[in-house]
Amino acid sequence: MLRSENLKVRNIRAAVLRQQDGPVKIETLRMEGPRDDEALVRIVASGVCHTDISMAHHWEPADGPVVLGHEGAGVVEEVGGKIKSVRPGDHVILSYQSCGVCRSCRGRRPSGCSRFYELNFGFQRPDGTNALAPDGVRGHFFGQSSFASHVLATDRNMVRVSKRLSLQEAAPLGCGIQAGAGTIVNQLAVRHKESVVIFGVGAVGLSAVMAARIVKADPIIAVDILSKRLKLAQELGATAVVNARRSDVLTSVGRLVPEGVDYALETTGHPVMMRAAAHVTSRREPRHISQVMAFPILCRRGKKLSRLLRAIRCPRISSPG
Ligand SMILES: [Zn+2]
Ligand SMILES: [Zn+2]
Repeated sequence: MLRSENLKVRNIRAAVLRQQDGPVKIETLRMEGPRDDEALVRIVASGVCHTDISMAHHWEPADGPVVLGHEGAGVVEEVGGKIKSVRPGDHVILSYQSCGVCRSCRGRRPSGCSRFYELNFGFQRPDGTNALAPDGVRGHFFGQSSFASHVLATDRNMVRVSKRLSLQEAAPLGCGIQAGAGTIVNQLAVRHKESVVIFGVGAVGLSAVMAARIVKADPIIAVDILSKRLKLAQELGATAVVNARRSDVLTSVGRLVPEGVDYALETTGHPVMMRAAAHVTSRREPRHISQVMAFPILCRRGKKLSRLLRAIRCPRISSPG
């Protein structure tokens, strides 16, 4: 149902992508809303995730101009009549969108939402409309499009946080940090003294290292090709590091944990690392990895290969509230 005639239209500033690989340009756009189930959030900070960069890289003219950004944090300025979780003035961090009614959402696994793709990559509201349509631009990326001065979010992808928390530091909790930490704590449920190898220690991998340290995993092995990152991984909790450029990963991990590791988290999407992740966890039960897609994968003693997206639990549970 289109109700735009009853809604406010305001001017916002946003970084608009109009060509492959950018650059984005700051433009003034008209935004319609908030609707009853939306809150207007003034963005204070936004992380830049690799997915934003990939989207810009794969952009095509047929996609039209879009606003990316999905690690937003800010202050609620206005709420629609059906918004329950926040009030104007609240500080919030934003995460991915989900439908709330499918089987996965009802089972408190919104990362497996049956409408995940269209709600996060569809550049539209759940009903197919788009608040930035007055200027022919598409927003609602991950239910936010946070590279903007203001966004519209819903109860399902906002988490109220303490005003003492720095929004600049909190913004990446919405994607990268909860993906890495949530994988270790929720999906793999790594426990005290269990071994874990983390392939790739960028934002997601380093968050996984910190979570592994919190749950007292041992050893915590970080694999990367950059010694600077590996050094940081050690500072954050890795008990051993392997530079994949300088040594053979399987031999090095095998020396550290001859019986095979309990868990591996693969964050690079590189086929060689994916195979290594499957291999180091499958010594007792070798299996092929034909299921592996160009997404980060999880392996649990070779028994489980699943997409990282499924590791992220409800943002309202995994993030600080
Ligand atoms: Zn992301
Ligand atoms: Zn759903």
